[in-house]
Amino acid sequence: MPRLLIRNVDVLTLDAQDRVLKNTTIAVDGKTISAIGEPPRGFSPDEIIEGRDHLALPGFFNAHTHAAMSLQRGWAEDMPLDRWFNEKIWVAESALTEEDVYWGTALAACEMIRSGTVAFADHYFWMSQVGHVVEESGLKALLAWCVFGLGAEQEIGGTTLELTERFVQRWRGAADGRIHTILGPHSPYVCKPAFLERAVASARKLGAGIHLHVAESQGQVDQSLKEYGKTPVAHLAALGVLDVPTLAAHCIYLNKEDMAILEQKHVNVVQCPKTHLKLAMGTTRVPELLTQGVNVALGTDGPASNNDLNMLEVTRLAALVQKAECRDPELLPSMQVLKLATANGARALGFENSGVLAPGRTADLILINMGRPHLRPRHNAAANIVYGAQANDVDYSLVNGRVLMRKGALTTLDEEKILVEAEKRALRLVNQKMSIVREYKS
Ligand SMILES: [Zn+2]
Repeated sequence: MPRLLIRNVDVLTLDAQDRVLKNTTIAVDGKTISAIGEPPRGFSPDEIIEGRDHLALPGFFNAHTHAAMSLQRGWAEDMPLDRWFNEKIWVAESALTEEDVYWGTALAACEMIRSGTVAFADHYFWMSQVGHVVEESGLKALLAWCVFGLGAEQEIGGTTLELTERFVQRWRGAADGRIHTILGPHSPYVCKPAFLERAVASARKLGAGIHLHVAESQGQVDQSLKEYGKTPVAHLAALGVLDVPTLAAHCIYLNKEDMAILEQKHVNVVQCPKTHLKLAMGTTRVPELLTQGVNVALGTDGPASNNDLNMLEVTRLAALVQKAECRDPELLPSMQVLKLATANGARALGFENSGVLAPGRTADLILINMGRPHLRPRHNAAANIVYGAQANDVDYSLVNGRVLMRKGALTTLDEEKILVEAEKRALRLVNQKMSIVREYKS
């Protein structure tokens, strides 16, 4: 396994002591950080990275996205959620092919590596194609094949729960353990209770979890109360969904009991602040959830609503939106909000050994170029990253100790080819007529 030495670097460890180390050395042996400070005796690196004027920190874990929706970036703008789905997103997706998903995800992978993401939780269609991109790019991922439970003829790619079960088994632990898999029933507002119960039975049989969308609008809560006499969270709990490891995106409209359930059931909640702002959805009450003891991670959501995959921006917005919403500047300080985007995300995606820079931890890390005017002076490394750093300040990205970006150049993906092919496919998609009719009601 290759050995790597990063020297003269500052380190934002994001450890329990919130340590920031100045002008030190990181030794990486294979996938693991073997030392920070003095390298182990006799350590002879295959590569030395000069870290002067750079800050190392754990790479970002994007805990909820639909990467291939990069093809719909800028296609559905300034609309309410129901029209966004019915008039735009589901029209383009009804023409989606397997190859489109490959190229859309490849485009997303270029962007994710460039902006410091090391792993993503993807929830989309034709997920084997996403698996191939993860294999080739060197990234890590938790993959869910989205299924609505409407019958194969109304599903994108003609999928069924059984086919998504096969996907979970085929890809689990693939790419040298960089791929984790999970079931992906869309949400309690699209999926019928009987279908969700079948998904729970599948999850138990496979020893897998469930990634879905929860409580995105007051309309969804009202509908759930009317149909089932329960909030979406209580409804999912009653169906047994929350008894398997659950990744619940959004969770904006929650009451006190919902929050207690999410804590008791160890549900991982994902806030996607940029999408929530842009679609005027409201704000996940992150400080209350954290006080309750819930693991809260951050995500971009798909690039059709975000419109990018930049976790630096999402981290910044996560802090700002709570401060503004609660009129409280002390909420979510920089160090804490960075941990939501790193360690909490790593936990939600099942990569618990990542998210902190310390000996014995996995070398999933990035180097930010601090030699830029907007990052000087260096009084507070965490604040500089949260409020100042831009995606193109990321110079290096390492996943499992492998360099995926070196001095701003991608090492695993043919970016030029991907840009051309993805744009060509995106244009074809939006010129299609809808073949699968579905309706979103808020
Ligand atoms: Zn989503």
